[in-house]
Amino acid sequence: MSDAERPPTEFEPAEPNTGEEFEPVDVFPDSTDFDLRPGADSCYKCSTCDTNCPVAEVDDDFPGPKFQGPEQWRLKQNEEDYEVDDSVMDCSNCMRCDNACPSGVPLSQMHNTARGEYVENQMSKLSVEYIRNRILANYRTSAWFASKVPRLANAVMNFGPARWVMEKTMGVTSEREFPAFATETFREWWDRQGAAGGSRERARENRERRGDPVDADKKVAYFHGCYSNYNTPEVGKAMVRVYEHFGYEVVVPEQRCSGTPMFANGMLTDARRHAEVNVSSMADLVEQGYDAIASCTSCSMALRQEYPELFDIDGVEEVAAHTFESVEYLRIHEDLRGAIDETEIDGDLAEEFAYHAPCHARNQGLNRQAVELFGDLDGVDVEDVGDSCSGISGTYGWKAEKYDKSMEIGEEMFEHMEDTDGETGMTECPTCAMQMEHGTGYEIRHPLELLEAAVVE
Ligand code: SF4
Ligand code: SF4
Repeated sequence: MSDAERPPTEFEPAEPNTGEEFEPVDVFPDSTDFDLRPGADSCYKCSTCDTNCPVAEVDDDFPGPKFQGPEQWRLKQNEEDYEVDDSVMDCSNCMRCDNACPSGVPLSQMHNTARGEYVENQMSKLSVEYIRNRILANYRTSAWFASKVPRLANAVMNFGPARWVMEKTMGVTSEREFPAFATETFREWWDRQGAAGGSRERARENRERRGDPVDADKKVAYFHGCYSNYNTPEVGKAMVRVYEHFGYEVVVPEQRCSGTPMFANGMLTDARRHAEVNVSSMADLVEQGYDAIASCTSCSMALRQEYPELFDIDGVEEVAAHTFESVEYLRIHEDLRGAIDETEIDGDLAEEFAYHAPCHARNQGLNRQAVELFGDLDGVDVEDVGDSCSGISGTYGWKAEKYDKSMEIGEEMFEHMEDTDGETGMTECPTCAMQMEHGTGYEIRHPLELLEAAVVE
């Protein structure tokens, strides 16, 4: 029985609001709004953002975040007919400039709104670039179709001549292997486990085992994102098992793409459509006392920062305030170090891990958490491979014209990974994981998988 067919219980969320009643918002309703953005005038031209931009470092034609943000802002203020510079499409939306700016200028918000305006008003909707970007940005749609015939899709997507045709006609690089689609999605597996009702029973049993109050108010709503659902369900399963181990009831609400690849490609209308469903689902649950948990750091970033920056959806601020990355939440609420101290890893995961903190994890202050958490775990060693960008930035590294730059950005990370003794990588971001695997040949794991091996019997 699917989630949709199952009668609601007291432990299941109310029917999510689909967001139909929300009116779309104009990103730039008129040019005079350009000078109203908070923080736009705070730039004092120190260029710190430019020196921290990985794209500017490898692409001499990219003018950098200072130009993309505050400088274009001023140009727009002064020239009524000013058109957004097309270089805004070369920004990978890594958001490192946000983190770097000492003056709190909302750079990525400015880039996202400018990119949205460029795509909406200046980009031909019949151009190959637009069509390619739209397909890449709407990965969830392609993944949904592929998940119906995963074995066939895996064979076709990695068939050499098909990849060559995709590069020549669509500009999708043939240098990368397409990620494999799982033969059972996370949501199909979740249904087999009894969904919310099954989780409630398991969580209660674990509370009894732990000696916690059986009626403890421990409940979370899992935002699995597209990749954990269609490609790496083992990450979603680890999330569920770890949370239930600590006595949490998990629900998996109706959800769409977080919108991360859409922001990066200026597809703000698509992003808003998905955000409306995600926010309304999560807002209902937040009201019932749930917190929203994401296992992908770009998804948690979207719910926490990009949605409230870009969309005026009812409930968006409440959802942002109650969204956490999966390991972060447990570090706040549970004695994870204590749980880990009592255990030892052996078998496949007894390894030295080369850990890469995704740029979007850095923006949330999570860059050291895996290294600190697993530092005392017997049988493993987790080594931080430095603060460089992986270079793939979601869809950026999949574009044929960006592939070489993407690999050049990632070079430092590849070298540091190869300096570690093991041959396994670790990261929270699925596309960083693709780049790590592509650049080194290492197998890549999510911190939740190691946590599951450490604490779940
Ligand atoms: S880092 Fe901030 S203050 Fe410095 S140039 Fe960039 S936007 Fe302006
Ligand atoms: S988001 Fe990343 S690529 Fe884009 S301007 Fe900022 S630092 Fe550069």
